[in-house]
Amino acid sequence: MVQGPRKPYSAGSAGDVGTFRRLLRVWRWHLTIMKKIVLKRKARFVRTRLRELRMISKALLSTHHPVLAHIIPIRRCNLSCAYCNEYDNFSKPLPLETMFRRLDQLAGLGTSIITISGGEPLLHPQLEEIIRHIRVRGMIAGLITNGYLFTRARIESLNDAGLEHLQISIDNVKPDDVSKKSLKVLDQKLQLLARHAVFQVNINSVLGSAVRDPEDALTVARRALELGFTSTVGVLHDHEGQLRPLNGQQQAIFSTIMSWGKRSYSRFNRYQNYIARGIPRDWRCRAGSRYLYVCEDGLVHYCSQQRGYPGIPVEKYTKQHLHHEYHTLKSCAPRCTIQCVQHIALLDNWRDPQTREGFKKPLEILVPAETPAPEEN
Ligand code: SF4
Ligand code: SF4
Repeated sequence: MVQGPRKPYSAGSAGDVGTFRRLLRVWRWHLTIMKKIVLKRKARFVRTRLRELRMISKALLSTHHPVLAHIIPIRRCNLSCAYCNEYDNFSKPLPLETMFRRLDQLAGLGTSIITISGGEPLLHPQLEEIIRHIRVRGMIAGLITNGYLFTRARIESLNDAGLEHLQISIDNVKPDDVSKKSLKVLDQKLQLLARHAVFQVNINSVLGSAVRDPEDALTVARRALELGFTSTVGVLHDHEGQLRPLNGQQQAIFSTIMSWGKRSYSRFNRYQNYIARGIPRDWRCRAGSRYLYVCEDGLVHYCSQQRGYPGIPVEKYTKQHLHHEYHTLKSCAPRCTIQCVQHIALLDNWRDPQTREGFKKPLEILVPAETPAPEEN
């Protein structure tokens, strides 16, 4: 069919006005949604900060409860980073009832923060139920993920579940044979988070021998701040969580990223400078007490890199165990790079020197505690 000549463009035609109105409506609708998200984000930020302040006061007033517990709902991961010893490619997600039982036990011990880790926790189909349960039990809910599986719908369901903190660790700008946790691959997911997440997002960049180009950490940190997230920098450890000093260029980049950290209180800790320079440090690791790592088998370990100690099922973990481990010296402490445990230890480094010997004793003697824990005030 032969088409007739097109109508000449007329700025005031009824069709154009209709299109303009439709666009205006869509734009206003987007604006309303964005405003709602910003308001919700601010409200959750204030609520979370208040809960964190309560958590810090409680931790300063009493040493008889865990401040932070990492819990693993699935060991499987969709990636296979060359330096990682915390994943497999076959494990099934843990049943919800098992997770609830463990969370109830942690709540009973007085735990303030639960961070869900893995493997890749987004592979758990009922992750949101786990987060809801954490919130129902009055604990702060955090999540560590590689971010690959984020969609707008998943972010919104995590909003609804009540997630409060999220951390994504990004290792490089372009994927290589060591890690696919790359800015190039994840940038779209970060943009989705910036638009739709009402929880706080922290992007952790890393430095260390496994990272080919240390400048990548700067690019990642810059992008995180640009998108309105907080940003931290970590040092990759060896397979026992121990120090590997950074070279001169890496140390300079580490200091630069730390200096950008006005928005993140976690940057102001001096222990990070010791880690970057590979200097052994005198501090009191309270793992097994103020910090617990609960693996997929439900056993309490000191941390992800010291699994096997004390190796007690969380259901059998008591205030006596907490008390015992609080006072137990950890021989790996001077060269440790596990930042979350060092962060929590700041609450107690000024008090209660550790006098009990750890590691060398058989585990049966290591626990239960030799003396009963004092009553909670
Ligand atoms: S994404 Fe995380 S859990 Fe998975 S292999 Fe990499 S470091 Fe390990
Ligand atoms: S010092 Fe504590 S956190 Fe660090 S590796 Fe040893 S047990 Fe783990």
